[in-house]
Amino acid sequence: MPIYEYICDECETQFERIVLNQTQEIACPKCFGKKNTIQLSVFSAPNGNGATAKQSGPSSSGGGGCCGGGCGCH
Ligand SMILES: [Zn+2]
Repeated sequence: MPIYEYICDECETQFERIVLNQTQEIACPKCFGKKNTIQLSVFSAPNGNGATAKQSGPSSSGGGGCCGGGCGCH
């Protein structure tokens, strides 16, 4: 279950909500306003440039080619 962080547009209260459904209305706990801004920074994982580039290159092409039958690995 994703937990999102919101900031109320009316009173700038910061609060967290478990969101089951993207279309559900989120009301501010303080002023009950329905206008708010979602903050995605909390759960966004940092992306390492070097690690992702290395992984996607040789592993995807090498694995598919080997098991195709040409090398007789099975
Ligand atoms: Zn509010």
